[in-house]
Amino acid sequence: MSIEPNIKTTPPKLMRAIREAMAGTESVQGRLDAFVTAISAAMQVKVASVYLLRKGDELELSATEGLKKSAVHKTRLKPGEGLVGHVSLTARPLNLADAPSHPLFSYRPETAEDPFRSFLGVPILRGSRVLGVLVVQSEDARSFNEEEVEDLLTVAMVIGEIIVDDERIGGKKAALKGITLAATKPETLKGKAFADGLAQGHAYLHLPPVPPANLLSENIAAEETRLEVGIKKLRASVDAMVSGEAAGISRASKEIYETYRMFAYDRKWVGRLREAVHSGLTAEAAVERVRNEHRARLMKSRDAYLRARLHDLEDLANRLLRALSGEALMPGNKNISDDAIIFAREIGPAELLDYDRDKLRAIVLEEGSASSHTSIICRALGIPLVGRAEGVLDLIETGDDVLVDGETGVVHIRPLESQISGFELRQTVRGEMARAYNALRLKPAKTKDGLNISLQLNAGLLVDLPQLDIAGADGIGLFRTEFQFMVSDFMPKLKEQTQLYRQALEAAGDRPVTFRTLDLGSDKILPYMDPVPEENPAMGWRSIRIALDRPGLMRYQLRALVAAGAGKNLRVMFPMVTTVDEMIEARALLNREIERAKNLAQELPQKIEIGVMLETPSLAWQVNAVCDHADFVSVGANDLMQFFFAADRDNTRVSDRYDPLHPAALSILKFISVGCKMNDTPVSVCGEIAGRPLEAVCLVALGYETLSMPVTGIGPVKSAILALDAGKLRAELEPHLNINTRLSSLRETARKFCEREGVPI
Ligand code: PEP
Ligand code: MG
Repeated sequence: MSIEPNIKTTPPKLMRAIREAMAGTESVQGRLDAFVTAISAAMQVKVASVYLLRKGDELELSATEGLKKSAVHKTRLKPGEGLVGHVSLTARPLNLADAPSHPLFSYRPETAEDPFRSFLGVPILRGSRVLGVLVVQSEDARSFNEEEVEDLLTVAMVIGEIIVDDERIGGKKAALKGITLAATKPETLKGKAFADGLAQGHAYLHLPPVPPANLLSENIAAEETRLEVGIKKLRASVDAMVSGEAAGISRASKEIYETYRMFAYDRKWVGRLREAVHSGLTAEAAVERVRNEHRARLMKSRDAYLRARLHDLEDLANRLLRALSGEALMPGNKNISDDAIIFAREIGPAELLDYDRDKLRAIVLEEGSASSHTSIICRALGIPLVGRAEGVLDLIETGDDVLVDGETGVVHIRPLESQISGFELRQTVRGEMARAYNALRLKPAKTKDGLNISLQLNAGLLVDLPQLDIAGADGIGLFRTEFQFMVSDFMPKLKEQTQLYRQALEAAGDRPVTFRTLDLGSDKILPYMDPVPEENPAMGWRSIRIALDRPGLMRYQLRALVAAGAGKNLRVMFPMVTTVDEMIEARALLNREIERAKNLAQELPQKIEIGVMLETPSLAWQVNAVCDHADFVSVGANDLMQFFFAADRDNTRVSDRYDPLHPAALSILKFISVGCKMNDTPVSVCGEIAGRPLEAVCLVALGYETLSMPVTGIGPVKSAILALDAGKLRAELEPHLNINTRLSSLRETARKFCEREGVPI
């Protein structure tokens, strides 16, 4: 695309005036006053005014040139009231030659604005927040030209940055008479607790914003060239992604890249960037401004598709910022404080592992989901994670004090003393509990009525292995082999796979390790494989279905498992099996690999046990038959509950809607445990519920004697089991486990039982 020649090489008059106004005073009120004077002179308008949004959503006249000064900090408009309120509500400029004839015009006598006809109002934006409105008015009925609109938008952006910058340091310079914009204040946000733990530390933005100092350009022509070079780089990188050249370094799907490419070549988007630079912004500030405009508009949209496009645009803007600024804006920048709390919209497992584990205290995401791999890795590493903290990126700045509560999903930003002391008290209590659990580390988990329960670990990465001894786990009940594939940029080689499996077996010593073959598809996407677009991926072509249709990858993995198990006990299980035939087929593939190893005279495992994961209701109804072909059964309760209740485990609107302690859910769990016992087939549970004390004691009462869980569950579950009489709890639950029951949860029944019996839950 050709770049139009541009003759504007020095910042325009207005920008120069704004620069001078910035230099003249430190106080925010002083700057606003100087700005309105400068705007009125440079644009030759009678009136220039700044309205700021107060808490409570009223717009307050905060500075003016041309209206009555006595109205400053007095005139207030309700959301949507008048033209100014309309600009704030729509987050779009409004340019009118004859304002009084507009139906939304509202006359405020105290401002004495009667003589003015033309009106140009632009939103003051920061992130997706509208902070206020900047207005110019003149007596003649003129329509402002595009360049003037652009200039005013640029000044509005500068105002937005100044205000937020001031808030960041505690509003000291502001003295804005009662105007309390959100960001300086302590903020408490409620998100979703995706990984347990309490953390105190300092915020670090995974992708930092452009610092306000670099908003205004010195030389427009030079800045335009920088922008064009950045766009060129961006386009080249997006083209490479689409054509697959960069598949090894990217983690999103080709389909997403196609959308990126569409935006990267979008004339409107690029046009807006060029206009912003042309009006005197630096290239980085232009990206920020266009991003803010999109955010403010699209965030208001109810259309999920449009909102998803916003994320694509945001990612693209981030890529462009990186193209402009090089390494400094790369994610995973290691320059973090010793107590860093990472804030991001979303973060992939590989990006997460890029950070120095010793310095990482917690993660806070605007998005995320409980069963995403980032969440699972955080749980494995004991890093608290709060997700779905909507709007948090607009409130946080690098360096802010933060408290993250991974128990309840609450995040305190710039907390009050009282919040800090309450939090520290809880940390102390947790520390004492951890010490108490540690004291139980070597004690067997035996119920009061004599059942020995094996408490095992869910693992998948090298970093999990030390936890075996730290937590005193009885083995690894679920080794999620796909994690190694997901955190690598390239497909792990046979040797690498073998090495990891061997390390797991060695770390466990005499304790069992149960390897689950690749469970791909649904949310588990490999960066180097093109996903097949599906309407309903959780119920789509995933897991064992892929493995049986395209056996190459799984055979390769089984080969690595057989090699790693040489001379040891090898336990392998297949995920998402829906029919007995699938189990027979999968087993045959493993047998072929064993035969192959024999033919090559390789050392074989001492013993091989082949199990099945029971994660689909259909297999529960064939439990007898599947036991004929499985040496053990492991109930994948996360998926089993998802399919049992028809409620997507990744969709927060429905994932907590049904209780796994619903009598129907407990009935199917009991049906499975009884079925396996009748066949003398060992059975365990390895979903997340196994790691929650109340759910775990119910599982024990239903006959499960092996539970596999995230590391944080082992201590609490063990102390509950030590105080449990499983027979008594069974007697309490059983009367409800039949088809006449209409209750939707037995949680209260179980909870009261535990309270009475002194079972800590
Ligand atoms: C499950 O579904 O319960 C399970 C343990 O497997 P994953 O969470 O990896 O799907
Ligand atoms: Mg599963």
